[in-house]
Amino acid sequence: MIKIEHPQIDRIKEEYYEKISHKINLRLRFIRRVIEFQNAGVNNLVDEVNKLNTSAKGKILKRFFSSVRLPKSVSNEDIRLLSSDQFDQNINLVGLQSLLTRLEDENVLKNLILSDPVELTNINSSFNNGERHLMTEVVVNYSLIDSTLSYWLTSELDIAVCPYCNRNFINTIKNGSESIIRPDLDHFFSQRDYPWLALSFYNLIPSCKVCNSTCKGDENTRLDTHVHPYVEGFGDHAKFNFELQGLEGKKYDPKNLKITLDDRTHDNVSKIRIFGNGGVKEGNVRLFKLREIYNEHTDIVSEILEKCDENSDYYIKSIEPFLQKLQTNKKEVYRYYFGNYYEEKDFKKRPLAKLTRDIVDETGVLD
Ligand SMILES: [Zn+2]
Repeated sequence: MIKIEHPQIDRIKEEYYEKISHKINLRLRFIRRVIEFQNAGVNNLVDEVNKLNTSAKGKILKRFFSSVRLPKSVSNEDIRLLSSDQFDQNINLVGLQSLLTRLEDENVLKNLILSDPVELTNINSSFNNGERHLMTEVVVNYSLIDSTLSYWLTSELDIAVCPYCNRNFINTIKNGSESIIRPDLDHFFSQRDYPWLALSFYNLIPSCKVCNSTCKGDENTRLDTHVHPYVEGFGDHAKFNFELQGLEGKKYDPKNLKITLDDRTHDNVSKIRIFGNGGVKEGNVRLFKLREIYNEHTDIVSEILEKCDENSDYYIKSIEPFLQKLQTNKKEVYRYYFGNYYEEKDFKKRPLAKLTRDIVDETGVLD
């Protein structure tokens, strides 16, 4: 719904690449040692394994020595007990070596990690089936994004509100070295269908739990059927509006209101990404249940409408004489009177910013 923008996105991308490629390269070197183990012996392997974290070394060793019952936490002693005849003979060593050589090429790795959302979809065809399988099994694995890295990434991106719903706060909060909360990192191209994109920068979308887990789950989103928050937001293609459905009590009683999300697109391609083309989970509006969820906020729309109604005691223009004395501008009046941000670039800072702006626009009070 809201496009993710950051003035220092290029720096953040580069730093992310430095951090993640360091971890990937440690794995690549370790896997080389595992392969060489049959000829070079165990000492090389122990040296390299000490640089990896416990779960990574256990996972990889279990893959290569599948017949050995290794404990959850693999010690150097466990590794010293391994022998070359226990090495899994079914592993396609030629294929693995060629994959390692490709990933050791910085251009290839950089492409995989930093390609923009459109280029990412082409990576699918640059690796064959076997390579993709090996790659996700032993190298490009989401477990490489540990707590330190995920907190670093989300705090650098500094997005306070979920870009999919613009409704839930997703701040990254730490207390010294203690990690408290951070956003989920949604895989736009799902891990189930595109596991080799699990570490790609533009495939990690900071988002709320409701959007990531409850609404989206394992659903694979695509660039032709869904809005990618690093590519675009809804902008003026979709606008919140309201309908008066009854006249119980006061005119703007929340019970009288229905919030709508209107299609204002003139181009069919955007229309499919935002509203879908018939499929139940096609288009972000359907996938994230935006129409249903937003209808819980008729009380907020009710307050906005009161402030925009010239017959209301809270009418925004009734305070104009005071505002002139304060020498304030339109954006500031909006900010303090409606409790939200006026400009689209700031919608990421506060929940319901788009709803508020669209409804105020609809009343024409700011014209
Ligand atoms: Zn959300």
